[in-house]
Amino acid sequence: ACHNQVLELKGSIRVFCRCRPLTPNECKAGDNSVIEFNQVLDNELYVRTHDGAKKTFKFDHVFTPSHTQEEVFLETAPLVVSVLDGFNVCIFAYGQTGTGKTFTMEGTEQNRGVNYRTLEKLFQLASQRKGQYTYEIFVSVLEVYNEEIRDLLATSPALGQNNKKLEIKQCADGMHHVPGVVEEPVHNIEEVWKVLQTGSKARAIGSTNANKHSSRSHCLLCVMVKGENVVSGEHTKSKLWLIDLAGSERIGKTDVQGERLKEAQNINKSLSALGDVIHSLTSKSSHIPYRNSKITHLLQDSLGGQSKTLMFVHVSPSEQDVGETLCTLNFATRVR
Ligand code: ADP
Ligand code: MG
Repeated sequence: ACHNQVLELKGSIRVFCRCRPLTPNECKAGDNSVIEFNQVLDNELYVRTHDGAKKTFKFDHVFTPSHTQEEVFLETAPLVVSVLDGFNVCIFAYGQTGTGKTFTMEGTEQNRGVNYRTLEKLFQLASQRKGQYTYEIFVSVLEVYNEEIRDLLATSPALGQNNKKLEIKQCADGMHHVPGVVEEPVHNIEEVWKVLQTGSKARAIGSTNANKHSSRSHCLLCVMVKGENVVSGEHTKSKLWLIDLAGSERIGKTDVQGERLKEAQNINKSLSALGDVIHSLTSKSSHIPYRNSKITHLLQDSLGGQSKTLMFVHVSPSEQDVGETLCTLNFATRVR
């Protein structure tokens, strides 16, 4: 039984690494790539460090700069089936700012990311199961900034209502909820797309620099799926979280003060808390420190237990970023 448990846990938390290509600017500046890939094994990568040493890192899967959005989604798609089967799923994008977190999750209009593809697949599978199950799907879009939760779908951002601070409450059934959060019913991918646009507009409001703001806050898309077995009447309820985390880069204390320092400390605290929770789950620790950050508290029901977790860790190939790249890869190795 013990052995089975280990296998189950290994299967329930997976870490994928994705390396973006060198950007045109990096190429122009003559930057070299310090990352190499194993031509045969798709789960290893090597980093050339400053002292010329070559460090090996292993993951469940490694995506090189030439892997497409479609190839990345192929490895992610099985989780969609799990959601419809009643499991909670969390998919995270972790990494330094500029390494491709938003590219992986949101993608671009021509090159859609995991969010769009996952929801498209969800609707496809749900309609294939029509004879056996009926499903209701709702989406919420939340932001965690400076350890405060904001509802990006709360109406009328012009009135500043989406600045209302939200709290996490535990209900009688033991589940964690954010009372008052908007749960928008959606019936097809076009409706989801509209909701996501509302969310990203609301995100930009109140920040002088939308790009900077988005790299300093966590953006969480929550998809709730309520299923009913047509024959037995049995109900399932599951949540799929798609999370674009704040940039993981370390900020020197001497570089920043005031508001910016508080921001950096909150990001650092929440990413460490997330790492600690996943590490405690993989090492089967008896105490899981969910309460150390808003994000782990919010995700408490969807991390551990029967839930499935996938973390995409993103790295830059550039020699300029090798310090951050090693930090990211060490973080990812520790959680696994
Ligand atoms: P982050 O969200 O981590 O700050 P972005 O997703 O904004 O990073 O990516 C930074 C830039 O690199 C963007 O212009 C993005 O389109 C590009 N990029 C990232 N990953 C890839 C990739 N795998 N292939 C092509 N371009 C990428
Ligand atoms: Mg981003």
